[in-house]
Amino acid sequence: FHRYPLFSPSRPDKTFGTLIIGRDITEQQLAVAHRGEFIAQVAHELKTPLNVLAMYSEALLGEDGHSTEFRIEACNIIHDETERLSGLINNLLNLSKLESGTIKPDRHHVRLHDLLQDVLNSISTGTRNKDIQFSFAVSNEMPPVYLDKDLLRIAVTNLLTNAIKYNRKGGSVCLRGQETDSSIVITVEDTGIGISEADCSRVFERHFRSASVQVSQRPGHGLGLSLTREIVGLLHGSISVQSELGQGSCFRIQFDKTVGLLQKVPT
Ligand code: ADP
Repeated sequence: FHRYPLFSPSRPDKTFGTLIIGRDITEQQLAVAHRGEFIAQVAHELKTPLNVLAMYSEALLGEDGHSTEFRIEACNIIHDETERLSGLINNLLNLSKLESGTIKPDRHHVRLHDLLQDVLNSISTGTRNKDIQFSFAVSNEMPPVYLDKDLLRIAVTNLLTNAIKYNRKGGSVCLRGQETDSSIVITVEDTGIGISEADCSRVFERHFRSASVQVSQRPGHGLGLSLTREIVGLLHGSISVQSELGQGSCFRIQFDKTVGLLQKVPT
């Protein structure tokens, strides 16, 4: 609270009251508390894979008596944990850039077919041993779009990472790109655990995670989709989800052709 004495214009030597201005800082304090909690959570998330890395690398460096199967398994675990760490660190770096406003979209003409194929290839190569089928349905005929390819890559990578993480053994992931009369649509569809109707409206909120056992068994911090939504917004697109519990989910990024997406390629 700030207190200000009130003086009458006719009697400037006398106060006739006090003006008290208060500011409700509940939100601010909650944000600070949330930030502390968030840092603790992230530190924990960083520590867990680091412990696993230390444990398996020490085992590999130690005794020589380990079987080949154990060595291969240990290398796979080290690989997966490294991917997880790097995904988390990338999300944190991008969030801090978004918060400080230092991400400025850098638009170029992009061939969606090539970009999306490249993203899917790098994700599926890093997903060996997960027993997931990938399919790709993007026409080679899609017109070049004018946007920031690095930002689009982050958004699609996040959706694909979730489609794999929240899938089931033997499930599938399909990456599609379609052109309609008015828009360009990219969808990532999975056959995983699905999302309840109530949660579909909340998954893009920062820190939100569905309260199911299946979700809590998988590592995460509720950052990826909020980051993805902000990035898609920077690209003047929109993102939505349709899902059914136990059946799978379909995330859809849509760009309206009216936002300068299809600028002519200079000749
Ligand atoms: P994280 O995966 O780290 O928890 P996200 O922001 O990427 O954070 O996702 C938020 C929540 O949305 C997840 O915790 C999960 O409950 C739900 N979710 C996201 N993608 C999927 C998906 N493909 N299938 C099922 N649930 C999903």
